[in-house]
Amino acid sequence: MVPFTDTHCHLDLNQFDHDRELILKRAWKAGIAWILNPGIDLETSQEAITLSKAHPGRINAAVGIHPNFGQPWNSNILGNIRTLAQESEVVAIGEIGLDYYRQHTPIDQQRIMFQAQLNLAAELGLPVVIHNREAIEDLMTILSKWHQDLIQSNNPLTERPGVLHSYSADLDSAQAAIEMNFYLGIGGPVTFTNAPERKSVTKHLPLDHLLLETDAPYLAPHPHRGKRNEPAYIPLIAEEIAELHQISLREVAQVTFANARHLFNLNQ
Ligand SMILES: [Zn+2]
Repeated sequence: MVPFTDTHCHLDLNQFDHDRELILKRAWKAGIAWILNPGIDLETSQEAITLSKAHPGRINAAVGIHPNFGQPWNSNILGNIRTLAQESEVVAIGEIGLDYYRQHTPIDQQRIMFQAQLNLAAELGLPVVIHNREAIEDLMTILSKWHQDLIQSNNPLTERPGVLHSYSADLDSAQAAIEMNFYLGIGGPVTFTNAPERKSVTKHLPLDHLLLETDAPYLAPHPHRGKRNEPAYIPLIAEEIAELHQISLREVAQVTFANARHLFNLNQ
């Protein structure tokens, strides 16, 4: 079996409390060889590291504050993320970004914490895992400036700055992100039967810039839509990409694994 990757999965959340190890067993059996678990606040970032320590080489962690979980925000929190990010299990800063759909955190504050965490990522040489909801314009403006700074400071992250997770915007923004060497995370929504737009954008995205992700427990692919998602469903997403690109499932698995290796600097 060709190994798959799940580059975005929240295994630490309480939806998995009663059967986490079973879910992982199912993932390994389905051929998922590597999982990235991003945090959404300090507590879940710590839990992501603990999970990674329990499954060395198979699970890694990203640490950061999600835009919906930014209250309160102060420099102590950034200091705590910096400390967590020093752990060897941590391969990225995330998930961070902008969410204008759910403004639990005021937009001004979202921008401040996003920028602070981007700066931290550049300082530590860690790529970023980015959440965007209805904020693509501001997001691209901020990322372009950040990427320009990476180039000017000769930061090696210029070549592997991060991933726009669960990519849902248009082809133009995708191409602009690819120009900056960002990867695009493709998940369950590409399999939805009523998502022609999402399918047609994905069809035109180059495979060497795509990553597979479930975003479990959310966004389960067809035919599990609406139920709890899990990493074992990754092949359903990979099959859809194979179909759209008219290539083999094996090629999708291989290329997306190589992409994950490059982005997150893995030894696997
Ligand atoms: Zn997420």
